[in-house]
Amino acid sequence: MTSTPPRRFPLSLSQVVARDGGSEVLRPQRPVDDAARERSRSMQPAGVGLDSHSVRERLVERLVREGLRDERVIAALRAVPRHRFVDSALVQQAYEDTSLPIGLGQTISKPSVVARMLALMLAPHAATARLRVLEIGTGCGYQAALIACFSRSVVSIERLKPLHDKARANLLAIDAGDVRLVYGDGRLGHAPNAPYDAIIAAAGGDDVPAPWLEQLAVGGRLVAPSGDGSGAGQVLVVVDRLADGRLQRSVHEAVRFVPLKSGLA
Ligand code: SAH
Repeated sequence: MTSTPPRRFPLSLSQVVARDGGSEVLRPQRPVDDAARERSRSMQPAGVGLDSHSVRERLVERLVREGLRDERVIAALRAVPRHRFVDSALVQQAYEDTSLPIGLGQTISKPSVVARMLALMLAPHAATARLRVLEIGTGCGYQAALIACFSRSVVSIERLKPLHDKARANLLAIDAGDVRLVYGDGRLGHAPNAPYDAIIAAAGGDDVPAPWLEQLAVGGRLVAPSGDGSGAGQVLVVVDRLADGRLQRSVHEAVRFVPLKSGLA
């Protein structure tokens, strides 16, 4: 069992950076803050705000019954309001163990799959470790918010601009802490902040892109969906960088994630 205290919201959002055309620009915060506040007000249907804590608790209890043990992941799932990351028409389903559409053909992953991947990612790291984490596929920002609960820093990359922007507003609305959002092709990783103690992908390609492996710190672990070799299915792949620098790969259960695409959109 681990004992990291849960990170509580609100926290200060120190860095939200977008990368356009290779140069990094700090976005003006005030209009974004206002827009985020406006949005969070308009997406709170009666009752959900009041009930979400206990509804969320029921989801966490279910995941614990199904085998979730990592206290860092449990605390994060308790802390992050998943209903604030989905469209208002879907908030009633936000605490079911189901994936939900977030627009542009993408989905927020099932909580049990998110929990499983985060627990796998954290397994080699002590509860006290202050991790630098890279996420590929920001989507709506939910998983990035979870990771921010137990990490020193999070860099999260998204290739679809509208989702990158939506995630920024979502994370600001809950004051999600130290999350650096990058608009870019995640297949390249993000060299400026490398190396990372943990790398997690929410989209799967035929194999694990070489830059992710290059950007993985010694003692670090990568978790990603990847092709199962048949050309049709995906499996969860874990890659550890051992103390001597070598990579060790293990293959886990079958999964189904959206495709890892190249380029920007
Ligand atoms: N972690 C997300 C899940 C989003 S689904 C959440 O909590 O909502 C996966 C995301 O990966 C999609 O938004 C998709 O656009 C993105 N994606 C796919 N290929 C990518 C790439 N090469 N670089 C960055 N993002 C990518």
